[in-house]
Parts: sequence; C-alpha cells; structure tokens
Amino acid sequence: MWKGDKAGYAAIHGWVKGRSQAPLQCDDCGEEKPLDLANISQEYLRELSDWEWLCRKCHMTKDGRLDKLKKQQKTNSFNYTGVRKSKNISGCLNIYWNKRTQKWKVQIRVSGKSKHVGYYGNIEDAKKALANLQCFDHQISKT
Ligand SMILES: [Zn+2]
Repeated sequence: MWKGDKAGYAAIHGWVKGRSQAPLQCDDCGEEKPLDLANISQEYLRELSDWEWLCRKCHMTKDGRLDKLKKQQKTNSFNYTGVRKSKNISGCLNIYWNKRTQKWKVQIRVSGKSKHVGYYGNIEDAKKALANLQCFDHQISKT
C-alpha cells in the first residue's frame, strides 16, 4: 500500500532490510563498520539492486556530493545576481539575467526607449556586445 512519500520510503526501507543481509564491510570503502542501508538511484525502488550498505562516512560522502552540487548551483545564481546588481554599466546600457531563456539579455536605451540587442549564453559575450555598442551609444547621446 502506498501511504505517501515518508511511509512509502519506510516501507521500502523495511522491505529491503528484510531481504538484504547487511554485509560485514561497507560496499564502498570495504571497512568493517556499522552500516546504513543507502539508496542508489534516489528513486527508492523495490529492488535489492537499487540499495547498498554503506558506512556512515561513505553514506555522508555520497549524500554530501549531492549537497555540494546543489550548493554549486546556488553559488552560480548568486554570482549572476551580483552582476545583475551592477547592471547599469554605462548609464544607458544594460545586461539582465533572463531566467526563462537562461541567458544574458542585453538591452540599451535610445532616446528613452529600450532597445533589445540580443541574448548571450556567456556574460563575457554580453559584455563584449556592450563594449561594441558603447561607441554607438555615445554617438547617439551626442546627437
Ligand atoms: Zn565506507
């Protein structure tokens, strides 16, 4: 019976525990330590092959790897935010991070109207595009 995520996990955990005998050594490092039953695919399958016995350290390391990945993604978006804060590079040229396209949107203001320049996957490319536009922009503001 499926009783929601937590109950389902506990039930499957119990099911695997009842069928898989804990080895003496950790599946990963081979050391003789108290072992945890760890899921491999994160899908908690009702299959013995989707589970392994790991010592606390290896279990933490494997889970930690996932956390690290998540943190890295967070750091990346934080950097993006940092750049976005200084979006007013010349006073009329702008770079925005576009969440939907996952690209840098370059936009300029000409006579009070915003003009779309393009999308760039790389912030450096967006900056280059801006640098090229800078002279163009000065011409406009002088006339
Ligand atoms: Zn281990």
